[in-house]
Amino acid sequence: MFSPDKKIQKLAVVLLMAVSFSSFICNKSPENNPTDKNLSTTDSITVELKDTISFSFVGDIMMGSNHNGNDLPPNDGKDLYAGVSQYLESTDLTFGNLEGPLLDKGGTPKNCRPGSKCIAFRTPVRYAEYLKDAGFDGLAIANNHANDMGETGRKSTAKTLDENGIIYGGTYDYPYSFMKYDSLKIGFTAFAPNVNCLNLNDIDYAKKLVQKLKDSCDILIVSFHGGAEGGANRVPRRNETYLNENRGDVFKFARTMIDAGADIIYGHGPHVTRGMEVYKGKFIAYSLGNFCTYGKFSLAGEQGIAPLLQIYTDRKGNFLYGDIIPIKQIKRGFPVLDESSKVISTVQRLSKLDFPESKLNISDSGKLTVN
Ligand SMILES: [Zn+2]
Repeated sequence: MFSPDKKIQKLAVVLLMAVSFSSFICNKSPENNPTDKNLSTTDSITVELKDTISFSFVGDIMMGSNHNGNDLPPNDGKDLYAGVSQYLESTDLTFGNLEGPLLDKGGTPKNCRPGSKCIAFRTPVRYAEYLKDAGFDGLAIANNHANDMGETGRKSTAKTLDENGIIYGGTYDYPYSFMKYDSLKIGFTAFAPNVNCLNLNDIDYAKKLVQKLKDSCDILIVSFHGGAEGGANRVPRRNETYLNENRGDVFKFARTMIDAGADIIYGHGPHVTRGMEVYKGKFIAYSLGNFCTYGKFSLAGEQGIAPLLQIYTDRKGNFLYGDIIPIKQIKRGFPVLDESSKVISTVQRLSKLDFPESKLNISDSGKLTVN
């Protein structure tokens, strides 16, 4: 899984006793993969460990749907990430939000309320390879489309992501995952206010789960799909509703999860970008908007631009610095670099308005630093 363009960072040299041979050879692996044989516990070996870990985060991903007629990208989606894979691959680990099941045919389309505009997605399983090739390591499956094809869809999604070595979490049947990176145990989970998802609105439950997960990993990443839609780009510090649905108090949720042990939080759901803050040394992005949403999503105005967020932390998940890479979607859902950098000024403005107390600085070129 090494890529030659991974950033070379300052290395801390430590002497580890009884190190597992598999983690030395391949330092990036989902935890559920069988490990190779271990060296004898009496052996010693020098391993160079990084002192900085880098992460990329993006918001909604929906690569096209074959449900209710084919609406799939040209060239069967093979070029979807051609304009952005260099950025997604340039960090150690990369995460996003998978909006809809990976399933070729069948499934039980979700029940929709009578009279509501009901949209159900179904993305072919072969598209998971594009995610893997673009550099994705983890995906949230807690959102309003995770259950679009019922249990068949959820099972197929899990199996497909397993086969591609991508970790995931956020539903009651697949709540969280762990992976190993550079001798660190990375935990991942996700929440949403939707059916079958770990409930964003049950903050006590979420807090207990996050505490439990943090007890058994080094860096815990928490994703949430919440907040209103319809251009709702502010974080109101109270419960938000949309179409009579409780979309959560994302401010209370995010800060409570940091208090409980989460190290990085990335949100999405409003289809537009929201502000960012550093709270108790940990990074929170409240909405990363639409990243790669082919065909079925409006890409008008702020919905067609989004940050590709890159965060650098120490080995305890404390925020060190970061970058916003400005992205726009072209041709109904192909993410590319946005030369106008518009989303950077959007994040600057919203972060200042909503988190005036935060020590996070955002430069005009998208550099993220703390005072
Ligand atoms: Zn959604």
